[in-house]
Amino acid sequence: MSPTPIDVVHDRADLRGRVGRWRRRDQRVALVPTMGALHDGHLSLVDLARGAADRVVVSIFVNPTQFGPGEDFERYPRDDAGDIAKLARAGADLVWMPRVTDMYRPDAATTVHVDGLTDGLCGPLRPGHFDGVATVVAKLLIGCAPDVAVFGEKDWQQLQVIRRMAADLDLPVTIIGAPTSREPSGLARSSRNVYLSAGERPAAEALNQVLTDVAGRLTAADIDDTAAVPAAIAAGIARLQALGYQQIQYLQLVDATTLVPLTLPPPAGRPARLLVAAILGTTRLIDNIPVVREELPGYQDRSVRSTAAPSHTIS
Ligand code: AMP
Repeated sequence: MSPTPIDVVHDRADLRGRVGRWRRRDQRVALVPTMGALHDGHLSLVDLARGAADRVVVSIFVNPTQFGPGEDFERYPRDDAGDIAKLARAGADLVWMPRVTDMYRPDAATTVHVDGLTDGLCGPLRPGHFDGVATVVAKLLIGCAPDVAVFGEKDWQQLQVIRRMAADLDLPVTIIGAPTSREPSGLARSSRNVYLSAGERPAAEALNQVLTDVAGRLTAADIDDTAAVPAAIAAGIARLQALGYQQIQYLQLVDATTLVPLTLPPPAGRPARLLVAAILGTTRLIDNIPVVREELPGYQDRSVRSTAAPSHTIS
């Protein structure tokens, strides 16, 4: 059966009109912001959104302001026709594809900056990146005015920044974090995985296993063992180097919410997160997993490995 065709809007006024009509019928609206080049990870967010709202809007906008000089804005993969077809099959209701000129006025002078959470990890490595993200997500949320918005745990630091921004700006939206969707090998799905050569794939696919092993060492260590965190991190870095990663930008244990670096293994009840960013060939890979001493509701590793299309069940 061919999927129902899906409407595409470019103008904010058209989007507002559509969302307004749904709202007047008491329908809840979800927004899933993306930069396109959609894969099953993005579609799992659409699936989650369908369970959380009556109508799902997916935005596709490759946001120039979150790319730094020398980053991959120009070569970022784009596939508008393929993306629209995937979203129709996934049961989204509307695709919003704002134009850069409509999104940013030439005389724009406002930036949304989230302090603290952007001080470490990707923050110093990608100057201006999180300002670009926080600003565009604020504009997308204000433009669409959804009841809920869904973002992936794959970008853990980004998710915490967006939660903080939405709370600090009193945006009337519920932010939902979606589990990381993984290939059967454990590799987190990413639009940038198309950059990986066949020769680089084994190292990319081993990244999640390295994280899992480091996390296992950390949860097995005594909570007052001051050598445990540096030793586990050093072992993880050595393995990544042996796998052929040219640069390990960080492999870090942090508090899951505040992102403050942790120097001791986390005690039970202190949700921690292990995050990595590493360069393989010309591809920058990021991933993260929870580090928890005991299972806490909501903090177990929720990432999902599958080749199949995402199911419509939400756990
Ligand atoms: P992007 O198009 O890469 O900006 O991603 C759009 C949204 O999809 C963000 O909220 C990402 O965190 C999320 N996302 C990207 N990859 C995955 C994945 N493998 N699993 C779950 N969410 C993802």
